[in-house]
Amino acid sequence: MLHSDFESLGLMPACLEALRHEGYVQPTPIQVASIPSLLAGRDLLGCAQTGTGKTAAFALPTIQRLTENHIKRQPRKARSLIVAPTRELAMQIDVSFGAYGRKTEIKRACVYGGVGKVPQIKAMERGVDVLVATPGRLLDLIGDGAIDLSQVEIVIFDEADRMLDMGFIHDVRKIIALLPKKRQTLLFSATMPSEIDTLARTLLDNPVRVDIEPEKPTIELISQSLYYVEKGCKRDLLVHLIKELKVSRAVVFSRTKHGADRIAKTLHIAGIPSGVIHANKGQGNRTKTMEAFRAGETPVLVATDLAARGIDVDDISHVFNFDMPTEPETYVHRIGRTARAGASGTAVSFCDTEEKRLLKQVEHLLGNPIPVIKVHPFAGVRPVPTEEDLRDAMFEERSKERMRGRSQGRGRPSGSARPAGNGSGDRGGRSARPSSPADGAPRRDGPRADAPRRDAPRRDAPQRDALRSPAAPDSRSRPASSCNREAGNDRPRPTAPRSSDQHRDAPRHETPSRSSRDVRSVIDEITGRRS
Ligand code: AMP
Repeated sequence: MLHSDFESLGLMPACLEALRHEGYVQPTPIQVASIPSLLAGRDLLGCAQTGTGKTAAFALPTIQRLTENHIKRQPRKARSLIVAPTRELAMQIDVSFGAYGRKTEIKRACVYGGVGKVPQIKAMERGVDVLVATPGRLLDLIGDGAIDLSQVEIVIFDEADRMLDMGFIHDVRKIIALLPKKRQTLLFSATMPSEIDTLARTLLDNPVRVDIEPEKPTIELISQSLYYVEKGCKRDLLVHLIKELKVSRAVVFSRTKHGADRIAKTLHIAGIPSGVIHANKGQGNRTKTMEAFRAGETPVLVATDLAARGIDVDDISHVFNFDMPTEPETYVHRIGRTARAGASGTAVSFCDTEEKRLLKQVEHLLGNPIPVIKVHPFAGVRPVPTEEDLRDAMFEERSKERMRGRSQGRGRPSGSARPAGNGSGDRGGRSARPSSPADGAPRRDGPRADAPRRDAPRRDAPQRDALRSPAAPDSRSRPASSCNREAGNDRPRPTAPRSSDQHRDAPRHETPSRSSRDVRSVIDEITGRRS
């Protein structure tokens, strides 16, 4: 099917010319599956995500049918209506209609909240062929008498599941009630929860159903990595990585609006041009920010998940998950912003102690652990100890104890455990190695500050090197860092795993009675937090 070209799908010359202009050579699977049925006037239920080419799949047949129907535009009336959950998506769809309809006489308007109504009312005065709208503003303008839906020939609901999530379902129902009975209806949704299924049953008449799996190969082109890092140190690490890695265009995802603002501020102070978008930013501001990001004037965009929805910018080299997402599927959406159109990309995630549960959910969804890059303490960045760090630390502590025991040797009070070393070549402190598993310690080297983790991917060696560069000295000898400013507290936050984890993670032969205070001091030591 992929070998069909656009012409064989039945598209008219004006559309084919626009596609040539866009540089599209082959239709995507959703375009192949949808365009002929839509040109024939069928209703459609599309289970597909952004990035599959679904906008062209519905825009091209809409433009063609509107052109071929020759129905005149009437004041305040729209011949087709596309309802989208976010302003960004609405604007993007409007731009796509502009591009695909460049060789036609199609007139468009796009209405969304957060900006003045007057230009939108003016745009509707003489009627349009294509109206793209977010639900709230659309109902508002209908209430004002500025928009009339009674002549809509084609209606498209895009990202219906997102509309449901955002509480727009009642608005959607109100809009449906205002549409003429005779019309062509399309419903797109990335997922099909039961509410969407019910809506589809009432809304669509004998629809064609198109299911497009998210493009898995794209994910495979993404180099994913993970840093365990304390919450208060994430911003320092982000600045460091943006400077060290070859970041040409990056999106940094923050879970909260406030967090996004703080990240942008940190980047600004570090001299990294960035823009920030979230729901509290005015629409004018968001549009400007997106334009600057697209044009490459600000190579970094800090965004919340909701605001970033529908953002379609090519050539994003890096995605940073500054916070782990609460929904594991969001991780896939986020990292899918990079590695588009066959390009490769890099996704870097930060995970603090409190986010380990969220990370587990993501890894469960992916079916694989995300390769960990061991962050070495540098310039104020302290890592969160991983389970392996903890085991290493336990081992080192036990080695030291043995060394102490040995040096006290004969003076040791009776009843103290005497280490079971072989008594030779065993004086090297940290590098001491137990001679046999009977020592009560695993047979492995003690932790070395520069030892790469076994699970760190080889391809990321340059990143590890960057973190080990002379500019990033081991901070064991450094004073307490500036981390944890976020909490408004200069004292480091506890980041060690809970004591239940400690016992679970500890090797079986470890003495279970080791006090958590000992463990804490070991963790403090490996994280450079010596008091
Ligand atoms: P969408 O899923 O509509 O957001 O589209 C995702 C991206 O794919 C957009 O950048 C489109 O411009 C692009 N695109 C859509 N159809 C094609 C095609 N047939 N060939 C190449 N790129 C396409």
